[in-house]
Amino acid sequence: MEKGVLSAGFNLSELISFVMHCNPRDLPKDTDGNVDFPSRVSKRFGPDQLQKFRPIDDGTSNGLNYELILMLEIIAPISAEYPARVASAIYQRFSHPPDGSQQRSMPEITVATDDVDMAYKRAPVSGYEIIAYFNPHVKCIATGNMGDVVWHVSFGLPFGYVSSVSSWCRVPALMAMVARRKFACLCDSYIDDWCIVDFADAESSSQDTLHVLHTAFKLPLAACRQPYCANCNKHPLPPSVQQRANPAKCKRRRHAAFADFLGFVIDFSFVTSTGCVIIKPKTERCARILSELDDCAEALQLSPSLAKKNIR
Ligand SMILES: [Zn+2]
Repeated sequence: MEKGVLSAGFNLSELISFVMHCNPRDLPKDTDGNVDFPSRVSKRFGPDQLQKFRPIDDGTSNGLNYELILMLEIIAPISAEYPARVASAIYQRFSHPPDGSQQRSMPEITVATDDVDMAYKRAPVSGYEIIAYFNPHVKCIATGNMGDVVWHVSFGLPFGYVSSVSSWCRVPALMAMVARRKFACLCDSYIDDWCIVDFADAESSSQDTLHVLHTAFKLPLAACRQPYCANCNKHPLPPSVQQRANPAKCKRRRHAAFADFLGFVIDFSFVTSTGCVIIKPKTERCARILSELDDCAEALQLSPSLAKKNIR
């Protein structure tokens, strides 16, 4: 609610007035006197993702994933190899100039990452999603007892629907095209994670360009831009006592020779001298995979989803 992606909590009458723009008693009713309010219900569940609770709408059990699935893949998300492919193209260009001119040494390049703040929930959609939950601390108007259903309207894409992925991915795909063609920004995204390659001499101009584009699209990046933030500044100011106590959430990583991207460490340290980029899985990722494989060995079972996730 604080970020404007969710309405205030309503009771049922308030909800109907909000979404139908009319008084509930004026709504069309069926022969049994029930309000004719077409909708499809989905369950919501929330797995624990590294101590973070993420509500997910079950688009499979209510059939919407089946109905909305696309028969062709519009956008192919990139992999952790993207920065290496960009580095390779730059290396080739300097080693073998297309105009036949003399070979030149490759300038130092860097890699940065950014994350879109609440990407799905901010994605522009033509409709809306209604969320309902039982709150034991709300007084029910009808009965006078404690406990009632509270309703919210969400204006963004539901998390958990296949169609949300397809719909969202069109947005960064468009932004990447604009950033590359109009601003020579070497960037691409995996869902809501951006990877940006740039020349070290350019400092952070491409990352700043992407930030401006996101601001213009009204889809802010999860970068705090505070002067004391080491993620957002090459030379951060010392934080005050108050700022130390209340660190802002910031997912930005500045241009550097190293970056974490999609569970891998991308290392550009040797690219100018050897043309090689080192890609290695993060230590935490290795530990998690080994732990999950230990569990499989104990259960004598490896599920298809776990195999797909870890063995690729
Ligand atoms: Zn920051």
